[in-house]
Amino acid sequence: MQKVYDAAVIGLGITGAAALDELARRGASVIGLEAYHPGHGMGSSHGDTRLIRLGYFEDPAYVPLLHRAYRNWRSLEERVQEPLLHITGVLHIGKRDGKILKGTGLACEQHGLAHEWLDADQVRERFPVFALQPDEAGLFEHQGGYLLAERSVNAFLKSAAQAGASLQYGQRVLGVEPGDGGVTLRTEQGSIRARKVVVATGAWIAELVPQLREAVSPIRVVVSWFQPRERFLTTPHRMPVFLREDNKTGEGSFFGFPMVGSDGIKMGRHAHFREPIANPDAPNAPVCERDLELLQDAIDRYVPGAGGIFSKAMTCRYTMTPTENFLMDLLPGQPNVVVASPCSGHGFKFGGVTGEILADLALDGGTDLPIGLFSFDSLHG
Ligand SMILES: Cc1cc2nc3c(=O)[nH]c(=O)nc-3n(C[C@H](O)[C@H](O)[C@H](O)COP(=O)(O)OP(=O)(O)OC[C@H]3O[C@@H](n4cnc5c(N)ncnc54)[C@H](O)[C@@H]3O)c2cc1C
Repeated sequence: MQKVYDAAVIGLGITGAAALDELARRGASVIGLEAYHPGHGMGSSHGDTRLIRLGYFEDPAYVPLLHRAYRNWRSLEERVQEPLLHITGVLHIGKRDGKILKGTGLACEQHGLAHEWLDADQVRERFPVFALQPDEAGLFEHQGGYLLAERSVNAFLKSAAQAGASLQYGQRVLGVEPGDGGVTLRTEQGSIRARKVVVATGAWIAELVPQLREAVSPIRVVVSWFQPRERFLTTPHRMPVFLREDNKTGEGSFFGFPMVGSDGIKMGRHAHFREPIANPDAPNAPVCERDLELLQDAIDRYVPGAGGIFSKAMTCRYTMTPTENFLMDLLPGQPNVVVASPCSGHGFKFGGVTGEILADLALDGGTDLPIGLFSFDSLHG
């Protein structure tokens, strides 16, 4: 007779890996299915680093989840005996009344988070790599830092396997068929039965959840690395991770990291040029002149102390929702199907808590964690 798992998780980026680990550690029999191979470059979770911060300018409602995520990242580190979360502080730069500084300040005030306002001269004195205009300021939030990205995914998968989860790579799910008492997953090799399923397929999510075709849109983004002329100014103990309003265009922002590896400091623009991806299975359009001009101009303009010599660039993808909030909910009318798309370019850090949320939804049908922003009903704001 065919085995029926308590739960199946489709997609093993950071979201699926975290869910698989939590489900397995709660004692569920669980299988994780991934279309590609570990660390593949077609999704959103590969690469070296992702930024983490507590003072969330997007909405202070994220802060309680972030506290929980920080706690859970530390406990994952304990389980796998590997450092994953590195605190450097995060420096927000822009106009005091701009979206990033105003929103971060509000979140810090509301939730009592350690932070400091710095004027332009104070920023230059303390962190000499950055350039500010006289009417700009810095907001330094002490608990910011970065996560090691691929290592974090691997850590969840290792912990899940140790707790008894099965993992299958090169196993694309072609269809999810809910039925009485569970779901059947159609794969290229046959079928798998489970009582509950978590769909965490990133840019491919609308293929298995067609209800999302209009709402969720994958876009191409590019990140770049620059070798600093003065290395010691850009090491994590001298240079924090940063978010920086784009004062050239007056909209959007750049994010960046100190030297964490040998490729130099990393920088990208949130959502880049918002170029839609029509077919997630086709490789992203390669890095082009227009991408490099934007990024070289930004490093010269905003981080001149690093003296950026171009090192390399690569493409990646965001899966955007209309509000740029996440989606984590039961599929309406299908209580055995949990849908998870924590992306819009800021979901990685929540990997510490998404596992808990998704396991609650799958095993208990609901959660006490504050996820009101992430429902199907909230998708369009
Ligand atoms: C350049 C860049 C910078 C970012 N910076 C930050 C940051 O600083 N901080 C932050 O918090 N977040 C950041 N993010 C966002 C964060 O990385 C994403 O939110 C997160 O990685 C999304 O993970 P995921 O598991 O939901 O999706 P993915 O990583 O895309 O994983 C989905 C997986 O599902 C698999 N899959 C798809 N279809 C199927 C199928 N039918 N069957 C089986 N498997 C399937 C795919 O192969 C893929 O591996 C950034 C993202 C990018 C791209």
